[in-house]
Amino acid sequence: MDKVEAIVVGAGAVGLAIARAISSTLNDVVIIDQHSQFGSETSSRNSEVIHAGIYYPNNTLKAETCVRGKHLLYDYCQQFNIPHRAIGKLIIAFNPAEVQQLETLHQQALQNGVTDLQWLDAKQLKKYEPDLNGHAALFSPSTGILDSHTYMQTLLTHAQQRGTMFIGQTRFLHASFQVNHWVVKFQNPDGSIGEIASQWLINSAGLGAQACAQQIDGITPSLIPPLYLCRGHYFTYSGRNPFKHLIYPVPEKNQTGLGIHSTQDLAGQLRFGPDSQYIEDLDYEVNSALKADFIDAIKRYWPKLDEDKLHAGYSGIRPKLQAPGDSSKDFIIQSSREHGLPNLVQLFGIESPGLTASLALAERVHALIASK
Ligand SMILES: Cc1cc2nc3c(=O)[nH]c(=O)nc-3n(C[C@H](O)[C@H](O)[C@H](O)COP(=O)(O)OP(=O)(O)OC[C@H]3O[C@@H](n4cnc5c(N)ncnc54)[C@H](O)[C@@H]3O)c2cc1C
Repeated sequence: MDKVEAIVVGAGAVGLAIARAISSTLNDVVIIDQHSQFGSETSSRNSEVIHAGIYYPNNTLKAETCVRGKHLLYDYCQQFNIPHRAIGKLIIAFNPAEVQQLETLHQQALQNGVTDLQWLDAKQLKKYEPDLNGHAALFSPSTGILDSHTYMQTLLTHAQQRGTMFIGQTRFLHASFQVNHWVVKFQNPDGSIGEIASQWLINSAGLGAQACAQQIDGITPSLIPPLYLCRGHYFTYSGRNPFKHLIYPVPEKNQTGLGIHSTQDLAGQLRFGPDSQYIEDLDYEVNSALKADFIDAIKRYWPKLDEDKLHAGYSGIRPKLQAPGDSSKDFIIQSSREHGLPNLVQLFGIESPGLTASLALAERVHALIASK
């Protein structure tokens, strides 16, 4: 049986960042994914926003890894010429009650170490974005956008330069710890079953993390958090983009999403979304009947929207730990301290801001490995 020092299951932004980080300490790292290409699931179905770290409760992994990850990500993009731009974002309040909610958000951001937010009144807001309707706004200058595909490609290249191997079309099936290593079973592209021995096992399988955890011998079932699928749809806009910044409403109260916002890619192509819809099965359908809800949400801040230029786009699915109606849940990184098994790290619930946080999450996983 082949023997390696670590297997990372899942080649999304987080798994790739982990492979890159741990390959600075471990020699043979293998990253496997069930798809032939890296980043084929949630990491390529999102808003590509570098979040500032405004929304998440203080002292949570989400808050800490988002703020730390944002700084690491800007530095990384700068250093390796990954297309990105600190375009800035406006969170718009439409009435005094929403200004109150923005004030709470501002305090939250300050506690998280986001100290650069600026208040704009209606007149200043018009100067920033003449086409926008709004009573007041919070401006976040450190929110940005990036080319997530080039980011993931760069992570993979750096990991490969350190000896990591990426094996696509390879599905994790089962693992058990035997004597001093994990015996990991996987399905090869031709359907045959392979086995590999590995000192470390990292479960970074995103929407598949819980299913993988269920196939690891010795895990206490109650330590596998239930997974809730929450789909977010996007609509693209084929007309002229009037916005210089990202435009967000005040976030939804239950925090299932940040509200239907206006984002744009680095070419300036405008898109709106994501909304939030809990679903039972992995299904990326975007029902064009949702258009009416999108029009209502967008017209609140942009009355001049040309409805005919709004088209059903794509969707992404959040791997939530938050049941419908429940309060928001934090990211989980589990190591032997929690589950009692040696040399196993598992990540659960890596929804937004997981792309922003990816380098910081990888740093934490690396620290767990390096401290052994
Ligand atoms: C609608 C939406 C919008 C978002 N917007 C943003 C944003 O603007 N900014 C931000 O910071 N974050 C955003 N996020 C969150 C971000 O996209 C995710 O947190 C991040 O991409 C998660 O990366 P990951 O590597 O954990 O998961 P994934 O990208 O899902 O990768 C997991 C990989 O594991 C593989 N896998 C699963 N099971 C197996 C198995 N049994 N064997 C082998 N491989 C397996 C999958 O094929 C997949 O490639 C958004 C998410 C959604 C859904």
